[in-house]
Amino acid sequence: MAYDAIVIGLGGMGSAAAYRLAQRGKRVLGLEKFTPAHANGSSHGGSRITRQAYFEDPAYVPLLLRAHEMWDQIERDSGQRIFHRVGGVLVGTPDSRTISGSRESAEQYGLKHEMLDARQIRERFPTMRPAPDEVGLYEDGAGLVVPEASVRAHLDLATRAGAELHFEEPVIHWEGGRVTTARATYEAEHVVVCPGPWAPELLRDLRIPFGIERQVQFFFTPEENLRDHPVYIWERDGTFYGFPELDGAVKVAIFGNGDICTPETIDRTVHDDEIRAIEDFMRTVMPGIAGTFQRAATCTFTNTADGHFVIAKHPGHDNVTVACGFSGHGFKFVPVVGEILADLTIDGATRHPIALFDPARLRGGA
Ligand SMILES: Cc1cc2nc3c(=O)[nH]c(=O)nc-3n(C[C@H](O)[C@H](O)[C@H](O)COP(=O)(O)OP(=O)(O)OC[C@H]3O[C@@H](n4cnc5c(N)ncnc54)[C@H](O)[C@@H]3O)c2cc1C
Repeated sequence: MAYDAIVIGLGGMGSAAAYRLAQRGKRVLGLEKFTPAHANGSSHGGSRITRQAYFEDPAYVPLLLRAHEMWDQIERDSGQRIFHRVGGVLVGTPDSRTISGSRESAEQYGLKHEMLDARQIRERFPTMRPAPDEVGLYEDGAGLVVPEASVRAHLDLATRAGAELHFEEPVIHWEGGRVTTARATYEAEHVVVCPGPWAPELLRDLRIPFGIERQVQFFFTPEENLRDHPVYIWERDGTFYGFPELDGAVKVAIFGNGDICTPETIDRTVHDDEIRAIEDFMRTVMPGIAGTFQRAATCTFTNTADGHFVIAKHPGHDNVTVACGFSGHGFKFVPVVGEILADLTIDGATRHPIALFDPARLRGGA
């Protein structure tokens, strides 16, 4: 049977693309190397921050407005709890990128937010110990999404809309509309490639230098009830971020600063000095949450040189669409990326602003 579209990779982005394509009446085949919602790529660990006052670039804000609408819709359609709107607080000095960039996005788009000085942060969030020159930006509509629940919900909705999904069937090779796996060769009018940290392997011909970066997610048993705590991002000599208590643990992590690896060579052991480093940081800025260490899990970022995504028609293949290089901040966009990929595949264009994600800007760089 020939398909309208084959989606390669059914992680965060691919699961959403498969659903949106099937929902629009396309005959979809999804091919995934591992089992549903596995922990070998970039979409596991129980929580991802979502927010709209976006310091990375105000160009992301319209996509985030749509994404939050769509998270609500996905929850309704799937009956799954995915989006926990617990609020979010960003902390840093007024001129830090986290604060100044978020403020710029919030002001440009009239997003609801509150600026807090150090005293107000301590009053509102007694767990936090900002320095006198640090300020906070609080966003009521921010919160977290559960990546595994999102992947499962999108896969389930895709199946219900008629998509055929194959797991534990790695793609060995694709060429235009022909996709070869260990089991068979399939043909389709369109191919959508959502490879996560396997981008250097599956999208070599994009000639983009991706940096696959090891990250660690740390889980602590809190000493107090932190179930209603907002998510937070704290910029001070690097960036520390964390979540409320979920399933008996608070998750904390340091953004970036990891070793370059591949999903095969990544060191999945979390070392004592890494645990000590995050405990030291927690004791300085949020002593109340530093309970006892429970466990840790590694994950990977797929970084581009400028930290912006790659979402486009493949420059060398008219019938191929790609989504990769999410640089450690893609999950909050999952539903809208699914919509964009369906638009690009079916209509050849999208109404969403994606100029920032053009791969031409990255080609052949160092
Ligand atoms: C520790 C950590 C924290 C993060 N925190 C945040 C956050 O707070 N907020 C946020 O918005 N984002 C965050 N992110 C980033 C976000 O999770 C990623 O951008 C997102 O998960 C990427 O999704 P993806 O679909 O590109 O990759 P994946 O979900 O990894 O999907 C790629 C899929 O392709 C499959 N695949 C690969 N090769 C083949 C093949 N040959 N054949 C078949 N299938 C194949 C893989 O098995 C995988 O399932 C974080 C990431 C990490 C690691």
